[in-house]
Amino acid sequence: MGKGTQAQLLHQRLGACHLSTGDVFRAAASRTDCVLTPAMAAALEYMRRGALVPDATVWEMVRERSGCLRCQGGFVLDGFPRTLSQAESLNRVMQEEKLSLSAVVNYELPLAEIISRLSGRRVCKKCKSVFHVAHQPPKVEGVCDHCGGQLYQREDDRPESITVRMEAYERNTAPLIEFYQRLGLLLPVAATGSPEEICARTVAALEQRSQSAK
Ligand SMILES: [Zn+2]
Repeated sequence: MGKGTQAQLLHQRLGACHLSTGDVFRAAASRTDCVLTPAMAAALEYMRRGALVPDATVWEMVRERSGCLRCQGGFVLDGFPRTLSQAESLNRVMQEEKLSLSAVVNYELPLAEIISRLSGRRVCKKCKSVFHVAHQPPKVEGVCDHCGGQLYQREDDRPESITVRMEAYERNTAPLIEFYQRLGLLLPVAATGSPEEICARTVAALEQRSQSAK
């Protein structure tokens, strides 16, 4: 499920600013050197070396767009924070700026569903096009519609690998979930159905939350 898609839909429905670290990175990569902000230049340097961009740099890039944090329709932070230390530094900066988060949406999908979605994926050996045996099957089984190449299942998409990956993901996000639960901000939303259904569910949950807060 694309979290970026959800953030984009929320942006359209609520008029909220969509602040995505992914977008910031893309914007940084496409700019010419002369207009790079210091944090963007630093992030680019890490990316060129193939290294992970550190928390502090990611945060600086978000802060460089802090005008958006005061946007009237509010803002959606997408892909950030990812770690407990990012969450803690976000909290500090929000307090300094006298801003607050209304909710932290946690999209939940049962493991069985994740496995059925991912394990049905097939990728073309030649052109890398992606198909799905149930949701987007090729015209001829095992053959790419675009180039006639052979379709295969990536090692990563095997149920065993998915389970291992999900366990790692849960281990990494558990401290974040706990952190926001303690602050009373966590808002679990079921991530089943179409993107539009998930968006409607998210908006309803946010509205309910803001009403009970009054
Ligand atoms: Zn192909």
